[in-house]
Amino acid sequence: MQTDLIFKHQILDKLSPSFCGAKWYNATIWLGSGMTTSCHHPPAHLVDIEQVKQNPKLLHNTPEKKEQRRQMQCGERPSGCEYCWKLEDMGPNYISDRVYKSKIYSQEELNNAYNTPVDRDVDLITLEIAFDRTCNFACSYCNPAFSTTWVKDLKQHGGYTELVSDGRNHFTHTHDSAQLYKYGETNPYVEAFFKWWDSDLHSTLRELRITGGEPIMSAELWRLFDWFKDNADKSQTKLAINSNLGSKPELIDRLVDCRKHLPSLDVYTSMEATGYSAEYIRDGLDFEQWWKNLLKLHFADIDTHCMMTINALCLPTLPDMTDKILQARTLFGNEFATMSYNILRFPSFQSCLVLPQDIKDECVSRLKQLDLTNMQQWERGQLDRLIEYLQVVETPHSESFEMPKLHNDFKRFYTQYDIRRNHTFAKAFPSLEEWYETL
Ligand code: SF4
Repeated sequence: MQTDLIFKHQILDKLSPSFCGAKWYNATIWLGSGMTTSCHHPPAHLVDIEQVKQNPKLLHNTPEKKEQRRQMQCGERPSGCEYCWKLEDMGPNYISDRVYKSKIYSQEELNNAYNTPVDRDVDLITLEIAFDRTCNFACSYCNPAFSTTWVKDLKQHGGYTELVSDGRNHFTHTHDSAQLYKYGETNPYVEAFFKWWDSDLHSTLRELRITGGEPIMSAELWRLFDWFKDNADKSQTKLAINSNLGSKPELIDRLVDCRKHLPSLDVYTSMEATGYSAEYIRDGLDFEQWWKNLLKLHFADIDTHCMMTINALCLPTLPDMTDKILQARTLFGNEFATMSYNILRFPSFQSCLVLPQDIKDECVSRLKQLDLTNMQQWERGQLDRLIEYLQVVETPHSESFEMPKLHNDFKRFYTQYDIRRNHTFAKAFPSLEEWYETL
C-alpha cells in the first residue's frame, strides 16, 4: 500500500474519518477583506471585526472553524470541505487533500489537535496571508479582487460586457469588499495579525507565505521584514512571497538587502510565456526586466520558483519558457527557478482547452522535443500530467459552459482587453491569429 494511503488509514482515520490537520494548523487569511479559510477549498468567511480587536487569534479561530473542528472530532463532515468528501466517496483508496494537508504535521501535533477542547484557540503552523490587493499588474486571468490596476481598468472603462460564462462576475465590478480600508488607513485586521505575530505566531509558524496583490508594494511586508531586523534570531519561520518581480528596481534591491535578516526566503513568481506574449497575458510586465530580476534574486541566496499558470494564450511559447529555464540551469544549477505547471480552470474561457486540438498538439510536440536533462523528477511528473491533460481532457471543469459559449467569451473578452490595454492580439500570438479570426 502506498505511504499516503497508510497514513490515511493508520493515522488520520484512526483519529476520526473526517479529521483534517489543516482545520487546526493552516489558514489563508486576506487581511484586506477580513476573510479567512482553512485551505483553499472551503468558502472563506468574514472575521468579526470587533472581536478580533480583543483577541487577534480570532483571525483563524473563528466560531465557524471551531464548529467545523467539533464536527471533525466527532467524525462528521463539515459541508465546506465537500471537495475532499467527493474524492473520498469514490472509494476507500482515493486520497483527498485531507491527507496531503495533514501529513505535513507530526503525529504528536495531530494528536494534540484532536485532543484540544473545541472552544480553545490554537496557534497556526502554516499560514498564507495577503496584506492588501495593491498590484502594478493586471493579468488577463486575474481580476479586481486581487489587483488595484484591474480596479483602475474597470473604473476607467466600466465592466467587461457580454461575457456569459463569467458567472462569478469577476470582470464586471471593482470588488470593493476585497479592500475594506483605504491606503494609509489603519486596518484592524492587519493590526491583529501583527499583535498575534509578536505574541505567538513568530514562534509557532513554520512557514509563512505572503501573497497579494503584489506584496513587495505593500508597506506591511516591509514592516514584517523590519521586525526580523529588530529581533535577530527570535523567529525561525520560513518566509515565502509570491511576487510578479515587476516592481521598481529600488524595491527589488530592498528585497535583496533584507534577505540577510531573514532565516530563509523563497520567492515564487508567475511566468508561463515569453516576450510580448508574456507581456500581453501579464499586463504591466517587462519580460526582459523580469528575467534580470529573477537572476538577481538567485545570486542573492534567495530560492526562486516559477509558477506557470497554464492558460490558452501561453501554449505557443510555453515550450520556449520551459527551455529558457532549463538552459539557464546549465549555468546556475538545477535548483534555479523550480517550475510548477498549474492548469488554469477559471475563468474557463481562458482555459487552454478552448484551443483547437492541432494547436494543443503542436505545443505537446514541442514540449516532448525539449532536452529535459536539467529537469527535476517532480517537475517532470507535472509536465507529463500537463501533456496528458492537453491530449485527453476536453472541458475545463464539470460545470463549465459548452465550447461555443466559451469561444464567444474568449473573443469578446480579448477584443475589449485589446482596446483597454492598448494591445494587439494578433501581434502577441501570430500562431493563434487564424483561429482567433474564425471566432
Ligand atoms: S478536509 Fe479538505 S477541504 Fe477541508 S480543510 Fe482539510 S484539506 Fe481543506
